[in-house]
Amino acid sequence: MKTPEEKKHELDLRYLRMARIWAENSYCERRKVGALIVKDKMIISDGYNGTPAGFENVCEDENHLTKPYVLHAEANAITKIARSGNNSEGATLYVTDAPCIECSKLIIQSGIKRVFYARQYRLTDGIDLLQRAGIEVHYLPLDTPTEEL
Ligand SMILES: [Zn+2]
Repeated sequence: MKTPEEKKHELDLRYLRMARIWAENSYCERRKVGALIVKDKMIISDGYNGTPAGFENVCEDENHLTKPYVLHAEANAITKIARSGNNSEGATLYVTDAPCIECSKLIIQSGIKRVFYARQYRLTDGIDLLQRAGIEVHYLPLDTPTEEL
């Protein structure tokens, strides 16, 4: 059975699932995060966590800690738009994991108006900041099997 919330967000859940599939592109070992930016029902950007263009495709150092220059999926998706002819004003971000505070600043400044995420993070300062900026934030866990939606 679909809950009213699930029915209302059927399409959003589908985009979130696509973001989760996109996360598989990440070569980071500690955590794979995927993001999609959708505007006017078109996917205008995508991203996953990883090192900047031209750097080695390794996210962790010899101590298995994430390198400081690894970009988060949201930052990759947002900066990809900066190099395109598109813009993210009024767009929706779908991201597998709750945005951190650094990405939340970028989300606010990029004009994104809605954020959907599927996995909570231990820190909530990013989500708090988004809400403070008046951005619509939805937590939609992806536990529901596809055939039930
Ligand atoms: Zn982040």
